[in-house]
Amino acid sequence: MRYYTFGNNLPNGSGNGDRWSDVRFWLTTLLVFWTFSAIGLGWLVNSFFILIGLITFVPVIAFFGLQWWIKRSIVTADCPVCDATFNASRASQFQCPNCGEPLQEQQNKFVRLTPPGTIDIDVQVVD
Ligand SMILES: [Zn+2]
Repeated sequence: MRYYTFGNNLPNGSGNGDRWSDVRFWLTTLLVFWTFSAIGLGWLVNSFFILIGLITFVPVIAFFGLQWWIKRSIVTADCPVCDATFNASRASQFQCPNCGEPLQEQQNKFVRLTPPGTIDIDVQVVD
């Protein structure tokens, strides 16, 4: 018989020990599921498990999706000015890390930016 439970972190102090709390928790869970099933709420139980599955798998899918997205949004190509190979984001404009030329991505290649005010010039660098 123990009346002092200093090692017990549970504040409710049931005094019956952790093991019995676990058993009671699972019994309650089972009872709740059984009750739901019995009164035709099996879909609720199913959706609960689906929810658990989603909570488990969504981060994994999100992780791989993010990797795929990063791979898709990052392009590797050569600088048209100095032929340095580097990675850059598709969405934005950037500078060549080697020569500092302002560039942007176009059809998986890096092209020089058309200076603002210049109209209708498709930049093709010819050495
Ligand atoms: Zn360059």
